[in-house]
Amino acid sequence: MKLHIETRELRMQHVWRISRDQASAKVNVFIQLEHDGVTGFGEVAPNIRYNETTDSSIEFLERAQSVLESANPWHFQDLLWQIHDLDAEQNAAKAAIDMAVLDWIGKKLEVPLYRFFGLDGGKAPVTSYSIGIDTPEKIKEKIREAEGYPILKIKLGSEDDERIMQAVREATDRTVRVDANEGWPDPRQALEKIHWLAQLNVEFVEQPLPAGRLEDVAWLRERSPLPIVADEDVHLARDISALAHAYDGINIKIMKSGGLLEALRMIHTARALGLSIMLGCMIESSLAITAAVHLSPLVDWADLDGNLLLANDPFVGAGVQDGKLILPDGPGLGVRIRE
Ligand SMILES: [Mg+2]
Repeated sequence: MKLHIETRELRMQHVWRISRDQASAKVNVFIQLEHDGVTGFGEVAPNIRYNETTDSSIEFLERAQSVLESANPWHFQDLLWQIHDLDAEQNAAKAAIDMAVLDWIGKKLEVPLYRFFGLDGGKAPVTSYSIGIDTPEKIKEKIREAEGYPILKIKLGSEDDERIMQAVREATDRTVRVDANEGWPDPRQALEKIHWLAQLNVEFVEQPLPAGRLEDVAWLRERSPLPIVADEDVHLARDISALAHAYDGINIKIMKSGGLLEALRMIHTARALGLSIMLGCMIESSLAITAAVHLSPLVDWADLDGNLLLANDPFVGAGVQDGKLILPDGPGLGVRIRE
């Protein structure tokens, strides 16, 4: 397979702030894999939290080139394990290769990927719409802009938590999910926050404590009135059994798992262990978001809105109607470059 790599700057509609950082634009890496007259598309959304940058992603892709050059894409299970084994990290770059190979397969077979996986596209869930950390006035403005979305995901984990939730509840009575992004390091403080949120019609809380503190999370879960969902604590299927006693659910992202095949293994592992499943994302264009949407009929909760927060999405793919994700009908990912 022939690999083509390019970068694109994705601009945010609003400055995007979470507990640990903020940005008004992001550079993602886009790839094309061409073989036998067909081209598969892929995207890397590097995340510095996991030691990924644009440069480290490109470096990984260049290393993968020698494997891809001689690869037979029909043997994609073997091929994608080979890619996986090239590095202990750089899963976002692996995800781009995984989705491009599967896009190629779907296009060759002339089926959309969700059909290739045997899924009912009509079962795609409603996605939440994320509201980053901001001033109360801006929070209210963003909630007004997100009028068409019945579920909101509110980023907390700063000293402004009370002011933000007050603004949210002044603006709307919609269902709210909270993501602390590791922002409440003291378990007793986290428990107080969760009791307070339970009175504000919050559905669940994502990653309250810093990753790697499973016994503290287990302590919290025993006392928590709300479900607790792992994000920064879970990357791969092999992580899940160790955290099943501490969390009620996991947030799977293809950029963390290294692609759709591992995400699928995670979905089945989490189900076997009785965990609820969310499918989430980074700041991504409609290309990578659509890849995840193809697996979304299998999960309980979707947070696939990275593309909706962009001012210049370079791709057209999955749609949204009243929050419900709509799968495209084209073969493979069903994604095309925006005119
Ligand atoms: Mg999260």
